[in-house]
Amino acid sequence: SENIIEVKHLQTQFTRDDRKTVVLDNVSFHIKKGEVLGLVGESGCGKSVTSLSIMRLFKDTTGEITQGEIVYNGTNLLSMSENDMRQIRGKEISMIFQEPMTSLNPVMKIGEQLAEAIRLHLGYSDKLAREHAVSMLTKVGIPRPQEILAEYPHQLSGGMRQRIMIAMAMSCRPNLLIADEPTTALDVTIQAQILDVMKQLQADEHMSMLLITHDLGVVAEMCNRVVVMYAGRVVEEASVYDLFDEPKHPYTKGLIGSVPKIGQKRDRLDSVPGNVPTPNNMPKGCKFAPRCKEAMSICWEQEPAIAGVGENRFCRCWLYGEEGRGANA
Ligand code: SF4
Ligand code: MG
Repeated sequence: SENIIEVKHLQTQFTRDDRKTVVLDNVSFHIKKGEVLGLVGESGCGKSVTSLSIMRLFKDTTGEITQGEIVYNGTNLLSMSENDMRQIRGKEISMIFQEPMTSLNPVMKIGEQLAEAIRLHLGYSDKLAREHAVSMLTKVGIPRPQEILAEYPHQLSGGMRQRIMIAMAMSCRPNLLIADEPTTALDVTIQAQILDVMKQLQADEHMSMLLITHDLGVVAEMCNRVVVMYAGRVVEEASVYDLFDEPKHPYTKGLIGSVPKIGQKRDRLDSVPGNVPTPNNMPKGCKFAPRCKEAMSICWEQEPAIAGVGENRFCRCWLYGEEGRGANA
């Protein structure tokens, strides 16, 4: 297949106090080999849950995938044993999180952590693992890598720690890198540098990437294609060019409305007035209706299906007439 991963009709729910909440509803998308796919939307729209679902990693035990498939290189990850899944994580599919302090071990020197990951996944000897660690740190632009290897995470700046996370995630040459808001916690100059490093490494290794962000400036800079999520659903899918040239979904139009340049300080997606509905307080029809300037009566009654709206373009909106009406509602 030309796709490294295909997420098909994914449904994920959380259970708390016996109450089930569907947080991802019928989410489908694919990533081609060598492609960078952006996953965008406000916080709470299901982006991080999507990445945790792919990795089958939930912070607590209340998260559960109840429907769908995640086909990686032809195999459904959801039918794999936890043991086989452990072989996939880190080595085949790697992840970078927003806050590296939570994923670096505070009591282990950088060199030990990096070398351990490399030994574990690539089976290198100590000496080779160390050399590979040094070369990875050099690739992510860390000066004096030998010295950094002997330091602990708390001795380094946030930007340095994030570079180390990238080096660690990339050191096993994963086929797919999932980066969840990889630069959000960093100041703007560091942010741009880190994105440059990621872009370079991605191109060098012809790696596929799922880049999760709330920042459309980052998408424009980094991605080939974009999936826009809202309230646990995919609402639009398009190439980056088409999305910026002519956004179709009213939510996407709002997001595009005020895209800052990279490096410009801004608030989180503040261009769309109103808030994401909470899972337990979902509108009956289109989940965006309470914030949509273009809402019609049908929008309040029935949820539109995601449907083709042009070549390689998909949108979930009643504005697109008959195409919207293959309704799954
Ligand atoms: Fe707006 Fe209706 Fe389209 Fe929803 S379906 S985004 S409410 S026009
Ligand atoms: Mg998130």
